[in-house]
Amino acid sequence: MNGQLKNAAQVDSHPRIWLSPPHLGEQEKVYVEDAFRSNWIAPLGPHVDAFEREIAQYTGSHGALALASGTAALHLALRLAGVEHGDYVICSSLTFVASANPILYLGAHPVFVDVEPETWNMCPLAFERACRAVTDSGHTLKAAVVVNLYGQSADLQPIAETCDRYGIVLIEDAAESLGATYRGKASGTWGKYGVFSFNGNKIITTSGGGMLVSDDLAALATARHWATQARDPAPHYQHSAMGYNYRLSNVLAAIGRGQLEQLDARINRRRDLFRRYQQRLEGIEGFRFMPESPSGRSTRWLTAFTVDEELAGVSAGQLIDCLARRNIEARPVWKPLHLQPLFARSAYFPYFEGYSVCDRLFAEGICLPSGSSLTNEEQDLVIVTVETCLQNRNSLL
Ligand SMILES: *Cc1c(COP(=O)(O)O)cnc(C)c1O
Repeated sequence: MNGQLKNAAQVDSHPRIWLSPPHLGEQEKVYVEDAFRSNWIAPLGPHVDAFEREIAQYTGSHGALALASGTAALHLALRLAGVEHGDYVICSSLTFVASANPILYLGAHPVFVDVEPETWNMCPLAFERACRAVTDSGHTLKAAVVVNLYGQSADLQPIAETCDRYGIVLIEDAAESLGATYRGKASGTWGKYGVFSFNGNKIITTSGGGMLVSDDLAALATARHWATQARDPAPHYQHSAMGYNYRLSNVLAAIGRGQLEQLDARINRRRDLFRRYQQRLEGIEGFRFMPESPSGRSTRWLTAFTVDEELAGVSAGQLIDCLARRNIEARPVWKPLHLQPLFARSAYFPYFEGYSVCDRLFAEGICLPSGSSLTNEEQDLVIVTVETCLQNRNSLL
């Protein structure tokens, strides 16, 4: 018994390895100190303006609006798309709840669509079926929120064509895919509106923040107005529309500018980590890594794979628990939104009748530590621990 305890203490003696922690450099401090020195401690200022210009330039978008969160950016995009109380909005099911919450803010109804096995992203055919069903039943369909999961763009071209055919606005939730490409264009610039997030776990972070991008500068000006309490241009506080307090702080934009200078290096590192995990673990029976679509380049924001319990002799959940006991944070793939109690009454369109892909990815999927600050030694420890968990599956699980 003592031997076992000692062993357990040894494997846990390393500091916790996190899924996707912030990774800061030196330039962030230089810009933040400038914000302090110049006393621009406000939800506007030169770093906000510069951050917007730099994101627009990086993505090739005509304009950008810095906001307090990616969720705020989605909310404003949906309102710009004309979504009102009682309208319908299509949304990917395999995503974080923030993709769909803003649909509820506007009193609209989300309709969820399954993913395809090739990309783990929205299935264009199921999307088409959903558009037809909603319009055939006489409801007003206004927009689609298409998510680019774990750093990879959805197959946006057929989805955009369907949007055009049904006259609905395509909003790209690119919160997880800043820096990815699809058919030669930046992820987030295929939709009429694109949304990025700088939350603490994203590929670059401002601790919290978001960005709305679009080629429609008039629409961005409207969103900017709404995001600053919709204050009319008058010295006495006058308001003709309902607004929000959604702008990004100049201090946080300063962090974002430093982070953005490192984005390409961060992407390369995350892709390296994916490749090393894949090389070392793909030979294990029952393990299958998230495929990379031939239509673009993923950032591999998170390394994700599925575990077939029959072949591997262990379930995804057991593997996650085993890693957690050894101080390594792994996570399941997002719980699909159509399975969430919050959306129990929303419609769902699976890959095909009676077969839902995202249900299976949720049951079998694992995300491994993927932060760009992860060292090779730490990654080796994760890999060896996965192997140990498998070898000891009968005694340790
Ligand atoms: C992180 C995330 C968001 C929300 O971004 P916040 O900046 O945290 O509000 C939205 N959608 C997806 C897919 C995300 O991963």
